Amino acid sequence: MSMVSVRPTTAARTRLRPVGATPPTVTGGFWAERLRTNRERTIPHGFDLLRSTGTLDNLRVAAGAAGRYRALADSSGATFPFLDSDVYKWLEAVGWELGRPVPAGSGGSLDALAAAANEAIGVVAAAQRPDGYVNSYWQGPGREPHTDLAWGHEFYCVGHLVQAAVAWHRALGDDRLLTIATRAVDRIDREFGPGGRDGIDGHPGIEMALVELARTTGEQRYLRLAQRMIDLRGHGLIGGGRFGPSYWQDHSPVREAAEAAGHVVRQLYLDSGAVDVAVELGDEDLLAAVRRRWADLIRTRTYLTGGMGSRHKDEAFGDPFELPPDRAYTETCAAIAAVMLAWRLLLATGDVQYADAVERIVYNGVLPGLSLDGTGFFYTNPLQRRTHRAWEPAGDAGRRPWYPCACCPPNLMRTLSSWPQYLATADDDGVQLHQYATADVTAETGQGTVRLSVETDYPWDGAVAVRVQDAPEGPWTLSLRVPEWCGSASLRLDDEAPVPLPAGRHDCHRQWAPGDTVVLTLDLPVRVSEPHPRVDAVRGCAAVERGPLVYCLESVDLPDGTELEELRWDATRAPAELARADGDPVVRVAVPLAGDDVAGLTVAAVPYYAWANRGMGGMRVWIPR
Ligand SMILES: [Zn+2]
Repeated sequence: MSMVSVRPTTAARTRLRPVGATPPTVTGGFWAERLRTNRERTIPHGFDLLRSTGTLDNLRVAAGAAGRYRALADSSGATFPFLDSDVYKWLEAVGWELGRPVPAGSGGSLDALAAAANEAIGVVAAAQRPDGYVNSYWQGPGREPHTDLAWGHEFYCVGHLVQAAVAWHRALGDDRLLTIATRAVDRIDREFGPGGRDGIDGHPGIEMALVELARTTGEQRYLRLAQRMIDLRGHGLIGGGRFGPSYWQDHSPVREAAEAAGHVVRQLYLDSGAVDVAVELGDEDLLAAVRRRWADLIRTRTYLTGGMGSRHKDEAFGDPFELPPDRAYTETCAAIAAVMLAWRLLLATGDVQYADAVERIVYNGVLPGLSLDGTGFFYTNPLQRRTHRAWEPAGDAGRRPWYPCACCPPNLMRTLSSWPQYLATADDDGVQLHQYATADVTAETGQGTVRLSVETDYPWDGAVAVRVQDAPEGPWTLSLRVPEWCGSASLRLDDEAPVPLPAGRHDCHRQWAPGDTVVLTLDLPVRVSEPHPRVDAVRGCAAVERGPLVYCLESVDLPDGTELEELRWDATRAPAELARADGDPVVRVAVPLAGDDVAGLTVAAVPYYAWANRGMGGMRVWIPR
């Protein structure tokens, strides 16, 4: 089995591909700080919670230790059968972390992570049955594997096991997890593969993992199993249940469904797998079906923050334009799944709109799920919190250290750990920079190896300097993205005059030499955004954006005695960027406000991702006019 050189997904028939054996390395700026927090605080915290909640012990019990399957009590009293997946997502994060160059001063913390991961891998290996089956819930007394595919989450958990295994293989060349994962998948393939029992999991997710396993091992059987699971959906195998067939993604064949429907994370994981299968098999119809659903989803069912899903009851999409800010569900995992899907569509098509989507969603849909100190998590991410709701002692006030259904925390960990991989892609002609961060990028192009260093204070500042460190003989193309929100941008090459650029992707094709530098300048004026007129819940409101960031007002910034709910825009004055104070982690925007009993007031809005870090109060993104 050879090391493959592409990540976090690799595919044969995509328009763009990951940069190569070495993923980009973030070396400074905004993302270095977020990644450091994830590595030093969030991931160690995750291991502590996997231990203290019993999640890791569940696998020990499956391996024969005394005890029984344990889960935190949910308000509904449900016992979740999918907690193993939290261990796997955490392991995936650690795999990416250990595979990165060691940042100065973090050697000790990485040693501790490696030791924790070794412990977890050992526990998973011990839990696996001789036939390859591993699931600590279903290995419990009185339970039989594959007797409740609708609720059981068995394939789903194996999917996360595979994704962790692929990360360890690619990042470290360590195949301990890959051996376990391959045996687990072979067990499924024997029972459910072509010619076997027709069965699909109530929660998609394994499909994209199977394609990655096929790419990693070269074993096409896994691709055929993924294809079969995609094809079996939408034919009533699971049927209705409490929330109807769309909850399981069993309402319509994957290549026929016109709109995104049902449980958001399930839909987006399924479509991620569908893109992977489509590009491997050259299935243009399947890819077109996903692109159609995505276009409709972005147009009719996506919040300003990139969040998706407005129904709490079944974690589902609402109707078109049903996007209430206060009742938004917008699960952190849904935003993560949307990034995964948009990235796959970007690779498959090269279409810059998908990179725009990744940017909006990661800054405003994913990052709010994690506190700035790295140890508190939001499961849901509403765009409004009424002041009186924040006073409630229990319930949704504030981020929590963990959840009974803990899907989001380790999903954040693995997403941040793999984030550098989303910065750039390569193709035969050259390198494409999609997201801007201070980073070193090494890319394998058709012309040879390109090394770039990028320096920027993005998203606070719009100047992005790209310096060529190494370039092959002959011309190649450096592509840069001007985001959809950017009305004014320019590009300057060395000492030449700047050239204005519209939004979109821009190709600079030339002979490059080490030392050549291009500076992309994106203007980041404060923008006042209006909602689509069909979104009833925020009609007559406006929101503040700057660069890729959506802003919000928090009651902590109001004068004593003023309530957020009584304030509206003061139309006579314009919002303005505030000079960034020393040590302030964010750039603030002054928003002019007024109220019936409030004379003109100016309040500093903060980026939405940074809300709820200074105590829990009222918050709103959409402000009445
Ligand atoms: Zn989640």
